[in-house]
Amino acid sequence: MSVTHYLRFGTHAESKYFLGNGKDMYDSIIFNGNMVAYTQSAIAAFIINTHEKGFLIDPQTHAFQHDLSYLKSKNSKGEEKIKQSIQQLADMLGNPVLSKLESSLPVTPSDFGEQPVIDAFAEKVIKFQSNIIDTVKEQDDWKYLKFKLKDQKSSEPAPSGLIAPYFYMSEVSYDRWLDINVKLINASIAHSGESELMAQLVIAKDVLTSPEDPISKIIEEYGNSEAKAVLIWVDQFNTVNASKTELAAFRRLAEGLKSKGKRVIDLYGGYFSVLLSKKEILDGVCHGLEYGESRAVKPVGGGIPMAKYYFYPLHYRMRFTDFLTVHKAMGWGVSKKSFNSKVCSCENCEDGDIQKFGITTPVRIKRKSGIVTLNYPTQETKDRSLIHYLNCKRREFKTVQSKSIDELKKELIDSINTYENVLGIESVSHLNRWNDTLS
Ligand SMILES: [Zn+2]
Repeated sequence: MSVTHYLRFGTHAESKYFLGNGKDMYDSIIFNGNMVAYTQSAIAAFIINTHEKGFLIDPQTHAFQHDLSYLKSKNSKGEEKIKQSIQQLADMLGNPVLSKLESSLPVTPSDFGEQPVIDAFAEKVIKFQSNIIDTVKEQDDWKYLKFKLKDQKSSEPAPSGLIAPYFYMSEVSYDRWLDINVKLINASIAHSGESELMAQLVIAKDVLTSPEDPISKIIEEYGNSEAKAVLIWVDQFNTVNASKTELAAFRRLAEGLKSKGKRVIDLYGGYFSVLLSKKEILDGVCHGLEYGESRAVKPVGGGIPMAKYYFYPLHYRMRFTDFLTVHKAMGWGVSKKSFNSKVCSCENCEDGDIQKFGITTPVRIKRKSGIVTLNYPTQETKDRSLIHYLNCKRREFKTVQSKSIDELKKELIDSINTYENVLGIESVSHLNRWNDTLS
C-alpha cells in the first residue's frame, strides 16, 4: 500500500517550490479555500501548471465559528476589517456563514437547526470546490488559460475529492457539533457526483484524551457517514511533543475510521504520521512548507523567525545553534562523508558546509520596551533550509515505503542511541514514544 504525500499551498510567493524540480517533492496539493476565493485566476493557472498532481480545496468553513477578531486585519488607517480573502470566501459559501459575518457574529450550532439550511450550505460548499474552473471561465484570464490547457493536452482539471462543510469540536462542544457535522457530510453526497466525498474532522487535543471518550462516538458517527475519506486535523498536535496517551488516542481514532472502511488522511502530520501509513492506518499525510507539521485552528501570531535545520535522524526542526553542537560532537566537520550518509546529502548539504543554514541579518524591531535588534535568517537561508526540508520529507515518505516496519523501528532506536549522549534524553524521547505507539 502506498501513502499519498500532500503539500499544502500557503501563498503565491511559495509557488516556485511546487513547480519545476519541486514537482518531484510531493504527490498532490491542498489549497486553502480563502486563497482560492481571493485569487481564483491565479489558482486556476497554478492548477493547470500542476495538473498531473491533482488537488483538493479545503473550504475552511470552521473559520466562521470563532471569535471574529481572528478574521480581521488592520488596514492602512489602522481600522480593523474582515480580511478580503475571508470576505470573498464567505461570499462564495453563502448562508448562514455570509449573513452571520455581515452581522459580525460567529456561526453557532443553532444556525444549523433546520435541514433546508444544512442542504443549501452543503450544496454551496461542494460547488465552490467543484466549480473552480467554471468560475474562472467567466473571467478574462480564461482565454489564456484555455490555450495552456490545450498545450498540455490535458482535460479540464477538477479536485480529486470534495470536502463537506465542517466545524471544529472540542471536549465541551463536540456533543453540539457532531450531529451537525455528520448531517453536513450526508447532505453533501447529493452534490459530489462521481468525486470522492471527504469529511474533514477538526478537533481539539482534549477530545483525544477526554474521559468521556468522544473518540468512540466520532468513529461511530463519521464511520457510518456517507464520506469515503476522512481528513483529520488535531489542533496544535505536534507529534514531537505529544504524550504517549495522545499518540495512542490519535492512532486509535485513525484506526477506528479505517476499520469502518474510510480512507484516512492526516492534514498536518510529521514523520510519526508517515510511519502510521506503514501500519496501513493512514492513507495520506499532508504538511506545509516547513511550518506545517502541526497547526492551530485559530490563527496564532508568527513568533520570531529563527534559523532552524530539519535534522533528519530525529525528524524535527532543530535550532541552528543546537545543530552546530551535534555537528561538532559527531566530528562531521572532519568527515563530510559521514555527515552526508548519516544526515543529508541534498543539493544544499552535499558540500558539507552547514554554516549557510545559520546566516542571519540584524533586524530592528519596535517593542513596548523600545527598539531591539534581533537576528533573522536571511531570505537565502530560509530558501536553503526549505529546499533541504522538502528533500528530507520526500526521503521520509520513500524510506517508509521501501523498508519494513521492523527496519523503521530499528532506525528510531539507532537514532536514540546515537544522539542521546549528545543532546540528552528529552531531546530524543519522542522517538521512544513513537516506537512504543507503533507496536
Ligand atoms: Zn539537506
